[in-house]
This record gives sequence, C-alpha cells and structure tokens, in this order.
Amino acid sequence: MKALTFHGDRTVRYESIADPTLQDPADALVKVKLCAICGSDLHVYHGREQGCDHATAMGHEFVGKVVEVGKDVDRLKVGDLVMSPFSTSCGQCEYCLSGLTSRCIHSQLFGWRQHGKGLHGGQAEYVRVPQAEHTLLPIPSTISLEQALLLGDVIPTGYFCAHQADINPGKVYVVVGCGAVGLMTILGAFEQGATTVYAIDTLPERLIFAEAFGAIPIDASVRDPLQVVKAIHSQGADAVMEAVGNNESLQLAYNLVRPGGIISMVGVNTASTLPFSPADAYDKNLTLKVGRCPARFFMQKLLPMVASGKYDYTSIISHRMELRDGVTGYAMFSEKKDKCVKVLLHCS
Ligand code: NAD
Ligand code: ZN
Repeated sequence: MKALTFHGDRTVRYESIADPTLQDPADALVKVKLCAICGSDLHVYHGREQGCDHATAMGHEFVGKVVEVGKDVDRLKVGDLVMSPFSTSCGQCEYCLSGLTSRCIHSQLFGWRQHGKGLHGGQAEYVRVPQAEHTLLPIPSTISLEQALLLGDVIPTGYFCAHQADINPGKVYVVVGCGAVGLMTILGAFEQGATTVYAIDTLPERLIFAEAFGAIPIDASVRDPLQVVKAIHSQGADAVMEAVGNNESLQLAYNLVRPGGIISMVGVNTASTLPFSPADAYDKNLTLKVGRCPARFFMQKLLPMVASGKYDYTSIISHRMELRDGVTGYAMFSEKKDKCVKVLLHCS
C-alpha cells in the first residue's frame, strides 16, 4: 500500500510499504478514506520528538471503512464506516472505565513505531486498529466524514483543554495558540460556558478564525499579550489554555495566569524542564493540568453536539489534497504557507 512515511528530519515520503494484516483477534483493518496532518505530527517531522522508526506510516487522524475484522470483533463488520481516536484503548482497564482512555494500559499511539514496535499511522491507504471494538466508533449518518475526522482528535482535544480550565461564566480565559487545537479550545470554552476568551497567535489568518469563533484576538507580533490582558484584568486570567507546545508559550501562560489560577496545557512540549520554577508555581498557587486528551471518551460524549451543527468545525480545513500530495501538505503546514490551518488528505 501507499503511505506517507517518516524518514528523519523534515523528510516524509509517499512510498509503498507492506499492507497491514490482522495480528490479533481483536484487530480490525480499515481502508482509510480521509486523514489529516496534525500539529503533533510536526514534532516528529521537525525532530523535536525523537525515536520514531524510519519508514513508519505517519499520522493519527483518520476515518475509513472496515475491510477485515479479527474473530473476537463482533460489534463491527466489514463495510462499516468508522472514526478513530488518535490512540487505541481497551475499554476495560481502570483508566478506560474512569474516562481517561488516553492512559489505557494497552494504549498505543497511531503513527509511532520505535525499535520495530508500535503502530503504523493513518496517513496510509490501510491501517491496523488494535482493540478495534472499543477504539473505533461507527460514523452515524448525522455527521459528515470531515466532522468525524476532526472528532478523532482536535475537537475533543480542544474541549478537553477547556474542560481542564474549569470554565465558569464571568471569568477570564486566554487561549495561547490558534492552530486547529487552539481554535477548537475556543469553541470548547464557549460550549462549557465561558463568556470572555482572549486568543493569542501571530498568524492573522488564524486570529480571524479565533474572532469568528467569539474570542478576542491578540496578535502577539503587534501587541504584547500580557499588557493587553492586564490592562483590562489587572490580576490576569483565571485560566490559560496552552495549545502550542513550547516553553515560550508556556511561560506566556504562566505570566498571564492570576494567582490561584489554572494553566491547562495540551501542547506537546518536548523541552526537558518547565520554563518556570517550583517557587514560581508556589508564588502563584498555580494549578497545572497537562496531558494527552482522552479522545475516545470525549468523542462519544461530543458526538451529539457535533451532529447538532451548532459549530462550524470544518471551516478550519484550509486544504484538501490527495494522499499522494501529502509531502507538499507537510511542507505547507509546517511553514504555515498559503494560510494553511488544517490539511486533509483524501485516499481515493
Ligand atoms: P499548529 O502548529 O497548527 O498550531 C500552533 C499554533 O501556535 C500556530 O498557529 C502558531 O502560530 C502558534 N504559536 C506558536 N508559538 C506561539 C506563541 N509563543 N504564542 C502564541 N502562539 C504561538 O498545531 P495544532 O495542530 O493546533 O496543535 C497544537 C499543539 O497541540 C501541538 O503541540 C500538538 O502536538 C498538540 N496536541 C496535543 C494533543 C493532546 O492530546 N494533548 C492532541 C492534539 C494536538
Ligand atoms: Zn492530532
């Protein structure tokens, strides 16, 4: 099959790799119809996240059709259209049962193989899905394939980021970073009752989306976000939602948050230490909430909201391309060229 494969720093290839096969009775094989490139793929692409085997099929955002199931898979059948969270989960361990599906004891991340172990990703014609009965959800006719695709990662991750920020009407919130995840965080914050949300980035096309979604945009290349927020809210924000993944934005989040406030960080930060010290955290009575979104848990919970059509999630999709053009898609998304926000790849 064809796939977009990782080959070291800024090198992704569209090439043939072996077709996946069932390896366990609980597996399913999915023929991918649509997949996407995520900010998380860029950490691998740029070499910030190291250790991924060369020739691994990249990506963890995909939807498709079931083409084969293992003998233990009863609830899915060949031909079902399915959506997937970006990591697998069993549905039975204590983490899955408590809703923290991202920490399932059997969890594996799509698109990450190290020392020959792990899972190929969804930027490929076919993908093997372990624990398929729980990992995959059938796509109901009430949502589009594109909505289903975003429901596998960025919609739940944004909602989760806001959820960790303990949203209350009347309080002050800031979202740092207006990529797909930050934009979904803005919508998630409003859905959970926020009334005042500032949104920081340096890319005008992304700030336009932030404003359209109801946030107050701050272009950090033009104005100092700290001054803008503190001029109106002298103590700072009640919570800051970080959706970038580096220490510069995390430090900004720290500077913006008020004493007793929360930083909710979903950005994947590959730095070796936090930018602020234990004493800094102490001095603000800071609550820091960090981690991988339990996407499988939230995608089911958020399905009715997505189906209701209340939010125009798919408006953030800036580019629709073919899988074979994915190398260009990576370069464009990485360089933020051509007002690129979210790249979708079709597998015909
Ligand atoms: P993206 O690269 O499209 O967006 C990042 C945005 O941050 C860009 O618009 C960029 O201009 C902006 N930015 C960079 N530095 C900034 C700064 N100092 N201040 C303000 N804005 C700044 O990526 P994305 O797809 O939106 O993903 C965002 C982050 O979320 C990534 O780190 C990704 O790995 C992470 N992520 C985490 C989870 C999770 O489960 N926790 C899931 C998905 C993605
Ligand atoms: Zn993702």
